[in-house]
Amino acid sequence: MASPYRSALLVAGSYFSASVLWWLLTGRLLNTLFDDFAAIAHGQMVSGYVWAAVSALMLFVWRSRLLRLMGREYRARLANRERLNMAAAVFDSTLEGVLVTDANNVIVHVNRAFIDITGYGQDEVLGQNPSKFKSGRHDAAFYHRVYTQLNEQGQWRGEIWNRRKNGEIYPQWQTIRVVRDEFARITHYVAVFSDLSMAKRSEQELAHRDHYDALTELPNRALLQDRVEQGLRQAQSEKHGCTLLMIDLDYFQNINDSYGHGLGDRVLRAVAQRLSVPLSPSQTLARLGGDEFALFDEHCGQLAEAAALARRLLDQLVEPFELEGRSLFVSASIGISLFPNDASDAEQLLRNADSALFKAKQSGRAGYAFYTEALTAQAQQRLEIATELRRAIEQNELRVFYQPVVNLLTGGLAGVEALVRWQHPERGLVPPGEFIPVAEHSGLIADIDRWVLAEACRQRVRWIEAGWRDGFVAVNLSSRLFGRPEVECWVAQTLRETGLPPALLELEVTESAVMDDPDTALEQLHRLRALGLHLAIDDFGTGYSSLLRLKNLPVNKLKIDQGFVAGLPGDDSDAAIVRAVIVLARSMGMTVHAEGIEHPEQARFLLEHQCELGQGYGFSRPVPADQIELKGI
Ligand code: C2E
Ligand code: MG
Ligand code: MG
Repeated sequence: MASPYRSALLVAGSYFSASVLWWLLTGRLLNTLFDDFAAIAHGQMVSGYVWAAVSALMLFVWRSRLLRLMGREYRARLANRERLNMAAAVFDSTLEGVLVTDANNVIVHVNRAFIDITGYGQDEVLGQNPSKFKSGRHDAAFYHRVYTQLNEQGQWRGEIWNRRKNGEIYPQWQTIRVVRDEFARITHYVAVFSDLSMAKRSEQELAHRDHYDALTELPNRALLQDRVEQGLRQAQSEKHGCTLLMIDLDYFQNINDSYGHGLGDRVLRAVAQRLSVPLSPSQTLARLGGDEFALFDEHCGQLAEAAALARRLLDQLVEPFELEGRSLFVSASIGISLFPNDASDAEQLLRNADSALFKAKQSGRAGYAFYTEALTAQAQQRLEIATELRRAIEQNELRVFYQPVVNLLTGGLAGVEALVRWQHPERGLVPPGEFIPVAEHSGLIADIDRWVLAEACRQRVRWIEAGWRDGFVAVNLSSRLFGRPEVECWVAQTLRETGLPPALLELEVTESAVMDDPDTALEQLHRLRALGLHLAIDDFGTGYSSLLRLKNLPVNKLKIDQGFVAGLPGDDSDAAIVRAVIVLARSMGMTVHAEGIEHPEQARFLLEHQCELGQGYGFSRPVPADQIELKGI
């Protein structure tokens, strides 16, 4: 029976018993009293009325008391039930898991969210101990701390890892409260928890995005910097060395331009995979952006070890990449910086590896270079030279020297090559090798080449006026300028302004300038050729040439680099290369021109193998224009 009715019956019962008792007692008492009175006043009737009135009054008072009591009790119970219903609804609909244990840590209640989060059914957990959910991630000391705080402060709050029914361990944010009765005895523990695994996952995803490159999944620059900093700190305390290798793919732009960025991205992913193959736990391979990667090795402080590591990485790229039905060859240049030899902190180590990379690129690519003290000094010197060079251009300190080019068959003057010099007020005549690279780096090269071009054209016109009608003037064009659309404009404008017949002008571009970006090169070479001038590939044999592409270029001449001429005729490999280049050039209808001829035997060998033109100290050094021998022309 419902409890409000039971208590109402109880009250009614007691009222009834009290009334009967009252009736009996008062009736008896009054009867006795009035029996005595009756004798005196014959008032039997009076005593009956009084008793009935008092009884009715008493009945009225008790009845109203009873009703009040029953009403209050009923209302309180009704409100209580409503509260309980509400609590149960909240308890069940909350997203947080709720678990209630009794004082002995026996589970007496769990809610729906608990079942959803843990995967356990109610029957599987009621009557059990919460230690059933332990993940094994926390030690005994951790649980001891939790219970101590619960006992002392009545509450504990924090992150705790538990295990789901399927065995997965996951983080919870949990609040445990102690419930005590009116005598302060513990009756229950109530734990409310939320599942943190989703939040943690997105936190991890965000952290991943911040620290990893999306394309290759390799660590990015920020993470690399972090690892380098940590690695150096450890290396310092453990007294060992570290190495940073900066890796840059050679001519990667060609792949993007020729086959599109989609394939370019696939190549980058494939490169990342190949470079990752020999990684040890002490190594971090990162992609810094574009086609630039870096490898940090926390336990490699020796020069020879670092060189071997670089070699291994380069070897990883030797095999072609088979992608989308094509075989793509990719090589890389590597700059190496060592800690503590070259740098004392992470930033410096990265910067120096970058300088070393620049050096590797300059010295022919598909190789590696170290950062050294000398390289630092060189970098500082380069800065000073750039400042001075700017002043030199303004103050007309540049000079053009000319080196004769000889027809090897006749010995006559076939043309001249214009070579720039810097007439330094203190240092005297500075050769171009000391300032052209600086000018290329600082952007001053455009001013220099434009000036040399104009000066050489003017000089050639003067020679025409002096009677030298045939014969070219060759002008060097920096690879940095090659590909710039404004170059044709300058050249056309200079030819117009100086009045030099275009056929007497020859522009020399280096092999690497053409091969760095063959498609742009091809277009530009065609536009330059359309102006009526001649084109020559300078320093041929030093760069990375695709003979197939060379065949399609509208160039008139190949200049064999002096490095191959130097070994002639004795060095077999130099002789073989020179012979091959001559055959190749002639088969493509090009003129062959050898640089750096110092001895008559070299000239003889070249002539025998049908090289038509030659230039070198053996004939003449580069000289000022007025020293060019025009006699006999
Ligand atoms: P290059 O265009 O290959 O010029 C030939 C270089 O070889 C010249 O050095 C020349 O003096 C040197 N040479 C000629 N014959 C011999 C020889 O028999 N033996 C030896 N050992 N060397 C010989 P130079 O004048 O010092 O020029 C060096 C480089 O600087 C040039 O190489 C060219 O790449 C660059 N350069 C010179 N002038 C200019 C210019 O006006 N603009 C640009 N962009 N570069 C220039
Ligand atoms: Mg040249
Ligand atoms: Mg040359």
